This record gives sequence, C-alpha cells and structure tokens, in this order.
Amino acid sequence: MSNFVWCHGPSCHKSHTQDRIRGVKGSKVLRTKKVQQHAFNSGERTSMYSYFCSQGCYNDFANTYVREVIALHPRTEALETPINVTKVQDTYWNNQTYMRTEIKTVDNG
Ligand SMILES: [Zn+2]
Repeated sequence: MSNFVWCHGPSCHKSHTQDRIRGVKGSKVLRTKKVQQHAFNSGERTSMYSYFCSQGCYNDFANTYVREVIALHPRTEALETPINVTKVQDTYWNNQTYMRTEIKTVDNG
C-alpha cells in the first residue's frame, strides 16, 4: 500500500528530470512527483516536506500563493517577547576583559 500526496509545487511537472517521465513512446509526459508520507514527515512531524518534493517546489508554491497564505494568518501588529537586558563582563581567550550584552527571556510562567 502506497501512502503519498502529489507535490504541491505549481511547476513540479515542468522540471526536466528522468524521474518525472511517464507514458509510452509517442505520448510521454512529465508528471508531478509523489511525496511519500512516512514517520518522518507526517503526524507530529508534518512539515513543508510532507507536501513538496523539494525546496524549489516549496519556493514556487510560496511565491505563487503568498497573498492567499498571508490572508489566512495576517500579522496586523508586532509581536513582542519580554526580556531582561544586562551588561556582563567576560574574558577573551587571552584573559582580556570585555563587556557583552546578555539578553534573557522573561519567563511569565
Ligand atoms: Zn515537486
């Protein structure tokens, strides 16, 4: 039993690779690739690689449909993470001292 989805890249079927060639002589086609679903790209591990055969196909999809994707999850205001900023004295490998900025996230429980 084969468990797969078709790659969602809008131009997947236009890439000239041997593994996309299907059909018999005289009526051959380039076909969209299958993306196998397995333990590493399904369930809790679902990711872009669950739906796209390659980074290129993902980029093609994202660039083609970016307005629709953003419309689903619009960001209308900035997000903020509470932090504490402190200056900390540290030392280089040669024992010379310097001040560095330390940023720690405030844990709001
Ligand atoms: Zn693809």
